[in-house]
Amino acid sequence: MNKRHRIVILGGGFAGLCATQELRSADADVTLIDRRNFHLFQPLLYQIATGSLSPADVCSPLRAVLSSQANARVLMGEATAIDPAVREIALRSGETIPYDTLIVALGSETSYFGHDAWREHAPCLKGIEDATEMRRRIFTAFETAELEGVLDSSPWLSFVIVGGGPTGVELAGALSEIARKTLREDFRSIHPEFAQITLLDHSPRLLPALSPNLAEKAEAALLGLGVRVRCGVLVTNIDENGVQMQLPDGTVTQLRSKTVLWAGGVSMPAIVRDLAAATGALTERGRIKVQPDLTIPNHPEIFVAGDIAALQRPDGTWLPGVAQVAMQQGTYAARVIKSRLKNAATPPAFAYSDRGDMAVIGRASAVAKVFGLELWGWPAWLVWLFIHLMYLVEFQNRVVVFVRWGFQYLTFSRGSRLITGGDNRKSLL
Ligand SMILES: Cc1cc2nc3c(=O)[nH]c(=O)nc-3n(C[C@H](O)[C@H](O)[C@H](O)COP(=O)(O)OP(=O)(O)OC[C@H]3O[C@@H](n4cnc5c(N)ncnc54)[C@H](O)[C@@H]3O)c2cc1C
Repeated sequence: MNKRHRIVILGGGFAGLCATQELRSADADVTLIDRRNFHLFQPLLYQIATGSLSPADVCSPLRAVLSSQANARVLMGEATAIDPAVREIALRSGETIPYDTLIVALGSETSYFGHDAWREHAPCLKGIEDATEMRRRIFTAFETAELEGVLDSSPWLSFVIVGGGPTGVELAGALSEIARKTLREDFRSIHPEFAQITLLDHSPRLLPALSPNLAEKAEAALLGLGVRVRCGVLVTNIDENGVQMQLPDGTVTQLRSKTVLWAGGVSMPAIVRDLAAATGALTERGRIKVQPDLTIPNHPEIFVAGDIAALQRPDGTWLPGVAQVAMQQGTYAARVIKSRLKNAATPPAFAYSDRGDMAVIGRASAVAKVFGLELWGWPAWLVWLFIHLMYLVEFQNRVVVFVRWGFQYLTFSRGSRLITGGDNRKSLL
C-alpha cells in the first residue's frame, strides 16, 4: 500500500496558514507546526501596544481555524533544527517529525543591528508579549510622571520611537493621540498633552517603501499631531536615560527619555540560517534566496515562503517582507505541491500581485498606494480600515475589532490600556 505524502509546514503565520488552507484538497497528510497555538495578525500589534485592542482581538487559535480541514493536523512545538539529509524536523521537546515535502515559513526576527543590549531599554514589536510590554511601558511612564508630580519636561513624558517605517509611524501617531486625547482629562499633576514624542530614522525620509509624496504627507500629518520627526540620524546608543544619536552634521547628542520603542530592522532566525548553511542556499539581507518556484537550489522538496524568502522581481528589486507577499507565496507553494502530487504541469514561476502599501497615522489619517493610486487622509484611512478588517482571520475578530474602532472613533477611548506583567518597581517610585 502506498504511504500518503507527508507535507510539513513550519510556521502558522501568513505564509504557513495560507499554504495549509490551500492544501485542503490535496491527497496528502499536512502537519502545521508552530510554537504558538494561534495565528497572529501582526499589522495590528501596535494597537495592542497602544491600548486600542486586546491581544485576543488579533489572534486566532490555529486548531480552531483548521478544525474542519480533515487532512491537516496542528502541532504546537518549537522547531530547533531541519535536517535536509534525512528529511526531519527536530522539536525542542525532543520529538522528530519526518517530511516528504517541507514549507519553511518561520517569519523574521527583530534585529537591533548588532546591539542586542539595546533590547532591554527599547522593546520591539513582534509578538503579543512584546506588544503588552510596550503597552506596560507607555502607560507606566504616565503613571510614574504623575506619581513624581514632576514638570512636563520629565523624561517620563518623553517618548522616542526608533524606525520610520509603517510600524514607527503608526506607533508615533497612536502615542500622540493617547497623550493629546485619550489621557488628557485623566491626570491631576501632569499634562499628558505636553508629552514629547520623537520619531527617529537613519534614512533621509520616512516610509521608504512609499513614494516621496506620500512620505511627505505622512510627515506633515505627524507634525500636525505634535510628533517631532528627525530623519538622517544615526542612533549610537540606547540606555536607561534615553537615546544617543549622531545628527547629519556629525554632532552627537542625547535625547532624554524613559520610554524608547524599537521599530527597526529584521533578521533571519538561527534555524533558517542553519538551513541555508546545510543546503548551501545563498542568503540576501537576512533572507534565504529562493528560486522562482520558491524552492531552494538542489532541494525541490523544500519551499521557503514569507518574510524569510528573498526573491527578486523582474526589475531586480527584492520583494518586501509584507503580509501580502507571505500570503501569496504560501498559496503558491501549496499549488506547486498539489500539481506535483497530481503529476500535472507545474504552475508558472511565482509572480507577486502588488495591491499596494499603506500606513495609518491616526484618526481619519493615513497614506496608501492602492492598485497604483496614491491616497491620503480620509480616503486612505477608510481603505486601511477595510483591508485590515477583511484580512483578520476569524469573523468574530472582525466584528469585535469593528465595534471597538467605532467606539474609539466616537470617544477617543482606549479600553485596553491595562498595565500588566513586568517589573513596575523600577519606574513607579
Ligand atoms: C509590528 C508589525 C507590523 C506590520 N505591519 C504590516 C502591515 O501593515 N502590512 C503588511 O503587509 N505587513 C506588515 N507587517 C509584516 C507582516 O506581518 C509580515 O510580512 C508577515 O507576518 C510575514 O508572514 P510570515 O508567514 O512569513 O511570518 P509570520 O507571520 O511572522 O509567521 C511566522 C510563524 O512562525 C512561527 N515560528 C517562528 N519560529 C518558530 C519555530 N522555531 N518553531 C515553530 N514556530 C515558529 C511564529 O510563531 C509565527 O506564527 C508587520 C509586521 C510587524 C512585526
